[in-house]
Formats: sequence, structure tokens, C-alpha cells
Amino acid sequence: MADFFDGKAFLVTGASSGIGEAVARRLVERGARVAAMARTEPKLRELAAVLGERCLAAPGDVTREEDCARAVAETIRACGRLDGIVHSAGVSMRALARETKVQVYRDLMEVNFFSMLFLFRAAVEPLVKTKGHLVAISSMMGLYSTQKRSGYAAAKHALQGFMDSVRLELHGDGVHVMTVSPGFVKTNISLHALSADGTPHGQVDPAIERGLDPRVVADAILRGMERRARDVFPAGGKEKLGLFLSKWAPKRLDRFLLGTSVT
Ligand code: NDP
Repeated sequence: MADFFDGKAFLVTGASSGIGEAVARRLVERGARVAAMARTEPKLRELAAVLGERCLAAPGDVTREEDCARAVAETIRACGRLDGIVHSAGVSMRALARETKVQVYRDLMEVNFFSMLFLFRAAVEPLVKTKGHLVAISSMMGLYSTQKRSGYAAAKHALQGFMDSVRLELHGDGVHVMTVSPGFVKTNISLHALSADGTPHGQVDPAIERGLDPRVVADAILRGMERRARDVFPAGGKEKLGLFLSKWAPKRLDRFLLGTSVT
């Protein structure tokens, strides 16, 4: 029996690193064609060289609507169809709200939320044609919040709300809309997380170092796509406990978080 992903075409953002790169690799291994989007073109070219002709480098900045539209158009031009978008590009933060510049909040909204809107606008009609997949990598921080993540959690909550809304709107069109909410994953996320003045945090946090392997997260994402899951929660026990408490005992979650390092 042919692989579920065989011959399908996907645009994967954030494909130069971490979860996005792992998803791009897995999709190509499973027979799909992938347009890999991120700003760092040499990393995309390296990935395309390793993965071969089924991977196309599609450099661009997801905070620019024209770049998102171009990446979608390039995917369709190169592959003749679009079966899905896996939007993994994102930036976190490590800063207290009382110290953080307003511009940092705007930047976090642009990269974590508006990017999804831009990709959605460019891709929705092609995805209706293929009854394809619209997948957003959100975060546990899209479902509850901790210290030092106010702007990131706000942007990921916005992303979750957007996905929940369009899932209902696209139900009749057969488009699969899935939100992925990982816990800590061992990637470069904390290196590039924004500090209070907008400069990169520049450190690999211990919790990130201990986090899930991005390949495990990629496999969970592909499984979710195959079974057209609504949500996927690839996370460790502590983050899952946090999610449970946020729904059923939010004051206990606060006490738990006050005694926990969030880095
Ligand atoms: P990485 O920092 O390893 O990867 C982030 C990716 O996003 C890179 O490919 C980067 O490429 C790309 N990116 C950032 N800004 C832009 C931009 N403006 N335009 C285009 N691409 C951009 O982190 P992860 O792989 O961990 O992050 C992937 C997603 O997972 C993010 O949405 C993140 O919020 C989420 N997440 C991560 C967790 C973790 O613990 N790692 C936990 C929960 C959620 P480039 O710099 O080349 O543009």
C-alpha cells in the first residue's frame, strides 16, 4: 500500500532548524515533495542537497505577506498541487513583561500569529481543492502561560484562537486544520528567543536541553496528519500536567509554576 504522504506536496516553514527541519525530512522520507521555507537560505540549500530533488528551497520571511504568497505559489508551480502547510516558523521570548519593550510584543505577534494569517490567505483555496492540511505549530504556551513568556503566550493564544475558528469555517470544505502544542523540545528556540530589548537570549536553557527530540515531535505531527487529528500535544509529563491543571485547577497550576524554573 502506498504511503499516505507519497506524491503529496507540502510547504514547511521554519525548515532550516528544529521541528520544521525534522518535519521536512520525515515528509521527504515518506515520499512527499517539500518546499522548505525560512530566512537562512544556505541552510535550506544544504537541506535540499541532502534530501534531493523532492526538496525545494523556498527562502523567505514569514512576517512578510508577499514572501508567504510567493512560497505558496512556488510550491504549487514546482509540484503542481498543494496538499498541506506545516507552519513551524516561530520565535519565543525570555523576559519579564514589566521590562519588555512594546516592539518586542509586536515582533512576537508578527512571527507567531500574523504569519499564519498570511499563509492561510495564500493557501486556503488550493487547500480546498486537495482537501489538504493546515497545520500550525503552536505551543503549550498557546493553552496556558508562565512567567517570562507574556508576549509569546499572547501570540500563541492568538494562533490557537485563529486555528479553532478556521477549523469550523473549513469543515464543510474538507480541509484538515490541526494545532500542535509541544512542550519543551531540544532545538535552537531558546537561543533565538527575544530578551526584553529584543536581542536574542543566546542560551540553550536546561529545560530545552532536556526536551523532546524534534524527530519524535515530527513523527507525532505526521501521525496527527494521517488520522486528521484536531490537536497534537507532544510534551513531557510536567507540561501535560500543566495543561490538565490549567483546565481543572488553575490556582494549583499557579502554585506549581511559582515553584518551577521556566527556562
Ligand atoms: P528553532 O529556533 O530551532 O527554529 C525556528 C525556525 O523558525 C527556524 O527555521 C527559523 O529559521 C524560522 N524562523 C524564525 N523567524 C522566521 C521568519 N521571520 N521567517 C521565516 N522563518 C523564520 O525552534 P523550534 O524548531 O523549536 O520552533 C518551531 C516551532 O515550535 C515554533 O513555532 C516554536 O514556537 C514552537 N515550539 C517550540 C518549542 C520548543 O521547546 N522548542 C516548544 C513549543 C513550541 P530562520 O532563522 O532561518 O528564518
